[in-house]
Amino acid sequence: MRPAYLILVCVCAFAQPRYDLVLKGGHVIDAKNHVSAVRDVAITGNRIAAVDANIPASDARRTVDVSGLYVTPGLVDMHVHVFAATMNREYTGEDCVRPDGFTFRSGVTTVVDAGSSGWRSFGVLRDEIINKSKTRVFAMLNIVGNGMGGRMDIEQNTKDMEPERTAEVAKRNSDVVVGIKIAHYAGPEWIAVDRAVQAGELAHLPVMVDFATFRPERPFQELVLKHLRPGDIYTHTYLQAVPMIDKEGKLLPYLFEARRRGIIFDVGHGAGSFSWKQAVPAVKQGFIADSISTDLHTDSMNAGMKDMLNVMSKFLALGVPLDQVIEMSTWHPARQIHHEELGHLTAGAPADVAVLRVVKGDFGFVDSARLRLKGTEKLVAEMTIRDGRVVWDLNGMSSQDWDHAPK
Ligand SMILES: [Zn+2]
Repeated sequence: MRPAYLILVCVCAFAQPRYDLVLKGGHVIDAKNHVSAVRDVAITGNRIAAVDANIPASDARRTVDVSGLYVTPGLVDMHVHVFAATMNREYTGEDCVRPDGFTFRSGVTTVVDAGSSGWRSFGVLRDEIINKSKTRVFAMLNIVGNGMGGRMDIEQNTKDMEPERTAEVAKRNSDVVVGIKIAHYAGPEWIAVDRAVQAGELAHLPVMVDFATFRPERPFQELVLKHLRPGDIYTHTYLQAVPMIDKEGKLLPYLFEARRRGIIFDVGHGAGSFSWKQAVPAVKQGFIADSISTDLHTDSMNAGMKDMLNVMSKFLALGVPLDQVIEMSTWHPARQIHHEELGHLTAGAPADVAVLRVVKGDFGFVDSARLRLKGTEKLVAEMTIRDGRVVWDLNGMSSQDWDHAPK
């Protein structure tokens, strides 16, 4: 019996294709691995199995021809608002949306809820959204215990800014909490920022700042030169209120100084936080944000922001090369939130993949002041793979034609 049994095992081993899915002939852009070339990508289970110049179709259970398209790591959007657990305004923060309805259709596989919840409300975000979504959802805890709470005044309550409690909940949920957020604080003191940094220190996490009301008592320059630590993140980089360009149109040198200190500048587009008057001269003079993020919520997605790929397309229109735009939307944000297992296509990494098309034509991109910049390229998500599964397929590339399907 024994030899026959062995032969049977061998035959089965040869008959089984090595890979579940091969994406064939696409241009792979993987910044971490310094790849920007035509490559095949093989997936087995929920992992990247191989990236190679030629992976035979016979090695795969299913092969999809993606020639003419770009194959990138699943996009990482590190500033969204997805605490739409109930229609109760108590939770909906900045008009939150549910992640799966907005992510996959634009190539996004990982999002970070940026402070919609604080230590008091995080449990509901975890139970209702993080645990129930197909999108990988991380969170930054608001330094305010009640989070955004659906009302701006809740975020003004300095009594509810408790670094110890915030850090405690962050540590207890270290699998999904990736930072501390401070947002919308309007007072003249530094207390809100400093408490968030204190929580960040206790929990060993980066802090993300939405500086909100810019006041002479607490100049923005001091935020990025003194109060934040290396690795902390300023979101809303191209907000009109950020001191960026002097009267002669020249970029203010402190921005580069802040960057040399290790401060991270994130786009955080939002409804009101992206201005061409800032972005065009800044990018021209070499001040390109480290990461692209949307600040997704119902107001931003129906205004100039729209979705992750639209914001990325804006950077193409600004003249930033596609490889860099992809890096700003994959590997950079993954590193910034200390999840270096994401944002690349190394064999063994989670099989989160975006297949993108660059469409050529006449396009218009609108900023927060409703001003338009024209462009000739727009990114579209043809296919999104999350955890090895096709979760978005715009033109059914992974499907069989109906008239060839078995009866
Ligand atoms: Zn936000």
